Amino acid sequence: MIHKFKMNGYNIVMDINGGAVHVVDDISYEILDHYKDKEKQEIINILSKYPEEKVSEAYDELEEMEKEGLLFTSDDYLNIESFEKREPVLKAMCLHVVHDCNLKCKYCFASQGDFGGHKAYMSLDVGKKALDYLVANSGSRKALEVDFFGGEPLMDFELVKKLVEYGNKIAAENNKYFRFTITTNGLLLDDDKIAYINEHMHNVVLSLDGRKDIHDDMRPTINDKGSYDIIVPKFQKIIEGRKNKYYYVRGTFTRKNLDFSKDVKLFKDLGFNLASVEPVVDADYNEYAIKEEDLPVILEEYEKLAIEYAKDQVKGDPFKFFHFIVDLTQGPCIIKRMSGCGAGCEYVAVTPEGDIYPCHQFVGNEKFKMANILDEEVILPKEMQNEFLNCHVFSKEACKDCWNKFYCSGGCHANAYNFNGNIMEPYEVGCEMQKKRTECGVMVEVAKMMDGETI
Ligand code: SF4
Ligand code: SF4
Repeated sequence: MIHKFKMNGYNIVMDINGGAVHVVDDISYEILDHYKDKEKQEIINILSKYPEEKVSEAYDELEEMEKEGLLFTSDDYLNIESFEKREPVLKAMCLHVVHDCNLKCKYCFASQGDFGGHKAYMSLDVGKKALDYLVANSGSRKALEVDFFGGEPLMDFELVKKLVEYGNKIAAENNKYFRFTITTNGLLLDDDKIAYINEHMHNVVLSLDGRKDIHDDMRPTINDKGSYDIIVPKFQKIIEGRKNKYYYVRGTFTRKNLDFSKDVKLFKDLGFNLASVEPVVDADYNEYAIKEEDLPVILEEYEKLAIEYAKDQVKGDPFKFFHFIVDLTQGPCIIKRMSGCGAGCEYVAVTPEGDIYPCHQFVGNEKFKMANILDEEVILPKEMQNEFLNCHVFSKEACKDCWNKFYCSGGCHANAYNFNGNIMEPYEVGCEMQKKRTECGVMVEVAKMMDGETI
């Protein structure tokens, strides 16, 4: 399978199964429309606007590339059966230390922090048992990931610190190590917390939506005040102290800022070097929800952003837009590319009460409650795990023949469930955005490889 598209002056051809990416001239680009179902002479006749010898030459080159395994490679190297039979091994956990929040973001899937239920704070006992469970079920994996999440995890920072200390102790006893992440809205950051986070957290996810008016409108404090002016200086301070440690600024765009490239530009101007801006996922009746009819504008905005971004990347700009990062060397491994996030199998979320869900986005949905960390023997339901395990790009009808399958890994199970009531049916609007982002990311890599030649 191949996928071809034009962007920023490049004719780009992607060989999906093999992973090769080519930049071709107009003649080869057009030949590929007919290459698989017409004879060479027929194609020469169809493309009679070009000199015959040029079309013939280009055809022969494509044929040569196919022979060399650079075009139309097959996927028969994949062993789907053994892939589906693999035993899930836990490697990551989202710890919902606090189901309470000091912001009331309009689109928050956590329903303003309390996850549609009551406000709750995790006990030290639940937190310790969750970490014990992760270590005990992580097989031979050495590196384990824990994300302190909420609500707002800084609302019980003492618990976070105790769990970091405990986690490091049990990891050392078991010849493993933890990579801790904290996801925060930043409101409660102060010098002490910043110093602690920068010393102990492998990664920090900082929530900021972009321009002040956009951010303040969507992310007001509980007193209906804007939060932008409070958090931006704190975010700048925390990243200043992180030196070469990871962080990223994570924004959400809604129908109200479909011109989100301006927000991405602001992140760069504020000095943040890694940012993402996710489309809001919310019920259609909300005024800010993304609707199908918004797609053309959104896709155009991604392309506009990609063209500007490519110019900067060619010059070696350190700023990275998360959604345009594409690895043309085809990492990560094939299993990851087939199945994606690992929710419910390699990754689980644990609530303050100890309930275990496939991931943070399923929290509160009783149908997806897997077990409780305080159970005498914690056993994750095999049937549900298999459902997630076998939900991959070759089992989903929509993904099987989709050119984007190894780049998006089948999309988000939670989005699929929330929009279509079934983790096997991807969220179509999300798919269109994902595909555009992949094209943008590939174009940026092409521009870098060609040193911006045609820009
Ligand atoms: S873009 Fe959508 S249909 Fe295509 S592979 Fe990804 S989830 Fe599946
Ligand atoms: S299901 Fe979606 S939200 Fe949950 S871990 Fe996977 S990608 Fe993330």
